[in-house]
Amino acid sequence: MSTRKPATIAVRTGIESDTQHNAVVPPIYLSTNYGFSAFGDVPKYDYTRSGNPNRGLLEKTLYQLESGQGAVITNCGTSALNLLATSLLGPNDLIIAPHDCYGGSYRLFNTRAQKGDFKVLFVDQSDPQALSHALAQKPKLVLVETPSNPLVRVVDIEQICQQAHAVDALVAVDNTFLTPVYQKPLELGADIVIHSTTKFINGHSDVIGGVVITKTHELAEELAWWGNCIGATGTPFDSYMTLRGLRTLSARMRVHEESATHILEFLKKHALVGNIYHPSLPTHPGHQIALKQQSGFGSMLSFEFAGSFEQLKTFVSGLQLFSLAESLGGVESLICHPASMTHRAMGEAALAEAGVSQQLLRLSVGLEDADDLIADLEQAFALALEQN
Ligand SMILES: *Cc1c(COP(=O)(O)O)cnc(C)c1O
Repeated sequence: MSTRKPATIAVRTGIESDTQHNAVVPPIYLSTNYGFSAFGDVPKYDYTRSGNPNRGLLEKTLYQLESGQGAVITNCGTSALNLLATSLLGPNDLIIAPHDCYGGSYRLFNTRAQKGDFKVLFVDQSDPQALSHALAQKPKLVLVETPSNPLVRVVDIEQICQQAHAVDALVAVDNTFLTPVYQKPLELGADIVIHSTTKFINGHSDVIGGVVITKTHELAEELAWWGNCIGATGTPFDSYMTLRGLRTLSARMRVHEESATHILEFLKKHALVGNIYHPSLPTHPGHQIALKQQSGFGSMLSFEFAGSFEQLKTFVSGLQLFSLAESLGGVESLICHPASMTHRAMGEAALAEAGVSQQLLRLSVGLEDADDLIADLEQAFALALEQN
């Protein structure tokens, strides 16, 4: 079983497991509660906040794909991060987070730290000196996000795990951008993997969800206890939908990446494109690490628009196949201006610190035909040039 490839695991999970009607696809159980067959005989599932067959199947599939031993499905990626931080850390414990992490993660850790729930340090984890300095303060948890959002910076998971474990810190990796199809953090030494399943894992922009996956059974049990205690767990319907999306993950990731490669070729040659950020580019500072620790480069990319801000706005509103919207990893292509959208909660100083400029645009390359996507970019750039 364990030697099966991810595509096979995801497609076959739960198939033909229905014992009542031999349904090929596992049925959805919306019931909030389950009967006790006898007095005092606690069933496997009793109340849906603590457990549900659809959520259980999604958990098992995701931890198998990530080579973990347990998982907790949460109602969003943010609550997965919140579950992790609030259950594992107390007021005197320190978490080290990337200085360029997802905007919502930054807001969560920052405001909770201000309230005194735990301490946080935002660190450039690609700077060995900054990282060593932070680790000397004996954190309890190190959060890694690679590739990062929105600049797709890459850090060395294996190396950070070695350094963090040397000071007895746990390492959690937010693997939302690559998914287990292209990166397996637990195999690189991490203790925990986090996903916003809202993104590639569900992949259809119609479910908000998250997961915490652990290397050990014990840590999963502890987090499941907390998930039930604070009410962070996901709903049966969301779990059903997410598993439906997950079945095609490998196939989708391949096409996402192939189209991103074509788009990069086009962008490289365009006069209105400045720096491009994608780990596949040999000029990308994390290119060598990406080659070592990833089995694909992924499809998230960003670039600096090399015209005026007015031209940038014309370009963005001229696009017809890239919707101006937050989120990523769905079948539909998206464009995002991080400074005014996903990352606006960071504030100007933190944005500058993280290198997120007003000229930066992020693309989530969807599954439309790549030729059509390139034609769309081309006509929108032309509109921007006309404006000059
Ligand atoms: C979207 C996202 C999150 C937050 O997940 P939600 O499902 O929106 O709560 C966390 N990390 C990364 C990298 C994300 O892209």
